[in-house]
Amino acid sequence: MKVLFIVCDGLGDRSIEELGWKTPLEAAETPVLDRLCSEGACGLMHVISPGVIPGSDTAHLALMGYDPYKYYSGRGPFEAAGIGLELREGDVALRCNFATVENGRIVDRRAGRIKEGTEKLAEALSGMSIDGVEIIFRAATEHRGVLVLRGDDLDPRITDVDPHGLTGVAEARPLAPEARKTADVVNQFTRRAMEILGRHPLNAERAERGLPPANAVLARGAGIAVSFEPFERKWGMKAAAITGVALVKGVCRTLGMDMVDVKGATGGVDTDVDAKFRAAERALRTHDLVFVNVKAPDIYGHDGDARGKVRIAERIDAALGSIELPEITVVCADHSTSACAKNHTSDPVPLLIRAPCIRRDRPERFNEIDAAGGVLSGIRGMELMNYIQDLRGKAEKFGA
Ligand code: ZN
Ligand code: ZN
Repeated sequence: MKVLFIVCDGLGDRSIEELGWKTPLEAAETPVLDRLCSEGACGLMHVISPGVIPGSDTAHLALMGYDPYKYYSGRGPFEAAGIGLELREGDVALRCNFATVENGRIVDRRAGRIKEGTEKLAEALSGMSIDGVEIIFRAATEHRGVLVLRGDDLDPRITDVDPHGLTGVAEARPLAPEARKTADVVNQFTRRAMEILGRHPLNAERAERGLPPANAVLARGAGIAVSFEPFERKWGMKAAAITGVALVKGVCRTLGMDMVDVKGATGGVDTDVDAKFRAAERALRTHDLVFVNVKAPDIYGHDGDARGKVRIAERIDAALGSIELPEITVVCADHSTSACAKNHTSDPVPLLIRAPCIRRDRPERFNEIDAAGGVLSGIRGMELMNYIQDLRGKAEKFGA
């Protein structure tokens, strides 16, 4: 049995006044999702556990059956994997911003959202060695980059260099005695990066054009690369992933999924949902499970745009209606992104599964309120893959 696994990023929400106290999903017209709901089972799912606010990275790990408390130490390694950097076990990776510093103070955390030339800057920073630790630096999208430390006895438990505001550049501090060396290397790197970038010709050029120089690197989100049992071996399914989000790509790539690039899949609100679902339909011919992430609901949630969320739910619904669905279809969110809180919240997410042999429950509409009355309520994200295995007839009995 083949599985289409759709994660609508941040789709879960709370009741919104301007929608007559409905959630965006309740306010949306979603005939296809509602039909799947009546033909299948639904429920509210705690993606990590009740009261825990998931990030997209920890949530996706949980949904794929990998305990984030065991496998997650920070965002860095998944950002690195997202841009195609191959990490080795024990590498410590950090996400970075190119920034503008003047007289020791940060004046622009994104160096004027620098877009061009960051590969050259990254090249100038990569390859040095600090206290026997190899430094690897790569440019990512726009003002972002990834810093990887490769060497012995590294420990990611350090504070961020990025102060997340317009103050002085912070020092990385160890949060455990074992992390002293790592903090030290990161601080030395930060100082050397300022020297190297300060005299880089690209910054002289930017100064001439009146643009803020990218003369500092602010690192944050340190995490250590651990080894993962590949998804295919763990679940016995060859899997493909379709997502425009670097972080989610990083998680999928780390688990060894095949990445399917789709023209028009941007990871933004302008993404081509139809193209993504058509690509999923094609990928299901060669894969047992196809995972699709649609990022747009999360973006609308962060922007506090409840009506945008209604529209994207309707677009997802229409796109889903235009493809042929496999035996098992799973639709859920990785977390709720509340349009009133403008952030992720711990509210459980709606989950819907249509499969040939499944309990058909009462709810006939796919939203947070109706789904609460569904038979899947109470399941956690970490348990979802186990249940999918059971539906496929591939789960093992515990005991005799
Ligand atoms: Zn998310
Ligand atoms: Zn978000």
